[in-house]
Amino acid sequence: MDLKYEKKDIYTSLNKEELKKVDEFSKNYINFLNKGKTEYLCVEEAVKLLEKNGFEDISKKESLKKLDKVYFINKDKSLYAAVIGKSSLDKGLNIIGAHIDSPRLDLKPMPLFERQGAALLKTQYYGGIKKYQWMSIPLAMHGVIYNEKGEKIKIDIGEESDDICFTITDLLPHLSKDQMKANANEFIDPEKMSVLIGSIKDNKAKEEQIKANILKILNDKYDIKEIDFARSEISLVPAFKAKYVGLDKSMIGGYGQDDRVCSYSTLLAMIDTVKEQKDINKTMVAMIVDKEEIGSYGNTSMSSNTFDMFINKLIKLTQNKDLDIFEIYYNSNMLSADVSTCVDPDYEEVSDIQNGNILGCGIALEKYTGSGGKYNASDANAKYVSYVMQLFERNNIKFQMGTLGKIGKGGGGTIAYILAAKGVNVIDCGTPVLAMHSPFEVTSKYDVYMTYLAYKAFFKE
Ligand code: MN
Ligand code: MN
Repeated sequence: MDLKYEKKDIYTSLNKEELKKVDEFSKNYINFLNKGKTEYLCVEEAVKLLEKNGFEDISKKESLKKLDKVYFINKDKSLYAAVIGKSSLDKGLNIIGAHIDSPRLDLKPMPLFERQGAALLKTQYYGGIKKYQWMSIPLAMHGVIYNEKGEKIKIDIGEESDDICFTITDLLPHLSKDQMKANANEFIDPEKMSVLIGSIKDNKAKEEQIKANILKILNDKYDIKEIDFARSEISLVPAFKAKYVGLDKSMIGGYGQDDRVCSYSTLLAMIDTVKEQKDINKTMVAMIVDKEEIGSYGNTSMSSNTFDMFINKLIKLTQNKDLDIFEIYYNSNMLSADVSTCVDPDYEEVSDIQNGNILGCGIALEKYTGSGGKYNASDANAKYVSYVMQLFERNNIKFQMGTLGKIGKGGGGTIAYILAAKGVNVIDCGTPVLAMHSPFEVTSKYDVYMTYLAYKAFFKE
């Protein structure tokens, strides 16, 4: 009997047919990454996917019965979906929650200015970034802007290969003597992360001729004025495409894998569970939410009571008016579907290898996140960890028990604590990622596929 625990890689355990499925899943996932570079776009892609698979907008339903499939869009920026199971809601729900916002650069409310032969846009970074990684790379622009009539105009520039793009110029090495003396946290001043947007003049304008020319282009193309930036949400994200990494094509590189890898896997797991199983025991709930990267504040974040409103809708529409929402939560199980770290081969020293995730060895189960003395952590209890482990063991899911890194080296959080506060059993469970929060994050395509299989196994319980 082998008593010792050993991590094993996924690849060598897969047969030919399974390997084909990995590649098929990866291809569709890469496509999702390329289409969903903001939370707005992810919601659009999610709705397309759900509707194609028979899900309906819950606001159009007057009642719900077993196996009905519904979704709710929260202000275009987050989404909840459910499939009604055969057992009553108070027996608990199977919930998987991921987030679709990723670190990026947002435009300031009044961003446009002209200086030294160029027009630029002021930005403010969103989420935890290493600012220098965002300099001197091609950027795409996505978002929405409202004009004075209140009409919504979509902005999507820079994704096609023949499209224009934007960039923030970094200082040349030749003149960086002073800049290079500052520590890495400080050497890029966030007030100097302005995006180049133009450089030619409108000769008819009296002053600020380059800015005037940009305003003219924007007005011609989108029918907007400078003040309309104040009623917009426009983000700059890496313009390059997600693609396979490595001679063996074993990895996926791309922007926003935190946490669109778990978001996509959650949606697909829910869709395929109903396809593969005629009988759904517990009601399944999937959510892809916004604002995780800035602490889950705001009405499109996991903290929003809109989630409770959605569950209340399920209670009403399934004719279970007398059920207590908190009892439902108390009996519910959840996977907080967020990415985890991977031990970086070049920076082993920040990880406790024995409690770290190794690339290609499976989905990460993280008992707790937080930092230092488990501060801000939703620490899953042993009974629930055991429940999830057994479930994975029964379904041959390759998983590893990871922590974020060595104590005191940093830390992080997820949405787990928010559901835990409602009484839900919850544990963090997601794909290990290298170079997290960088413009080009890397995952193992085998870990990605295992994430999908793990979520499916969880929903099928
Ligand atoms: Mn995340
Ligand atoms: Mn993150």
